[in-house]
Amino acid sequence: MTAAPGDRARSPDSGAATAHRHTAATLVVVVGPSPLPPRPLRTTARRPQNRRLSRTGTAMLPLDPSALRASLVNASRKEASDMTPPPDLGSLDWEQLDLLGWRDPKLPRRAYVVLPGHPDDDDRPRGVLLRQAEAVPRRRAQCAWCQDVTLPNDVVFYAARRAGAAGRVGATVGTLLCRDFECSRNVRVLPPLAYEGFDREAARQQRVAVLRERSRAFLLAVLGDEHAG
Ligand SMILES: [Zn+2]
Repeated sequence: MTAAPGDRARSPDSGAATAHRHTAATLVVVVGPSPLPPRPLRTTARRPQNRRLSRTGTAMLPLDPSALRASLVNASRKEASDMTPPPDLGSLDWEQLDLLGWRDPKLPRRAYVVLPGHPDDDDRPRGVLLRQAEAVPRRRAQCAWCQDVTLPNDVVFYAARRAGAAGRVGATVGTLLCRDFECSRNVRVLPPLAYEGFDREAARQQRVAVLRERSRAFLLAVLGDEHAG
């Protein structure tokens, strides 16, 4: 019996590889030295990346400063202890946040983004230390996460050192994001009535889901080989 051409595409390994390419092509720009050799297939076969990305995740649960520090996956001990929490931490409406991002009030160009726990990570919140790159995006750049075409805020280029061994040899992941991480608010703005009968609420929910997927994809790109599940 001959295998149909589609059989190969459905194998777990090639499915995971496709998801990985998709991430690299559409969501992140890898700069710096070449990444380390590809992760062993065993890891991706055990936890297919496309399955993780298909989940929409949840809103944030309240976190205190020590939980924020402990969440950082790509920060040194000193960088984590140098972190200044967001000034409005005590008054945030966490249920309206798909992620908590803020710029460090004391360290120029340094920022953080913390994502809610995910079932594949034992529901632990995970955060990424970011640095705003010197490069200035072209005018009217879009945030890669909320993709608002009428953004009320600036978009800047942020880079994150990758976690673990890849980060130690200088590999980074970069992306264009809202300067002050206004994404959760932006995607909750009710979209205009595109046509008669357009379901604006469904469109809003869809944008929330996309934001959660894209921010998680970025986290997974930063984690790379370090994502042990
Ligand atoms: Zn945004």
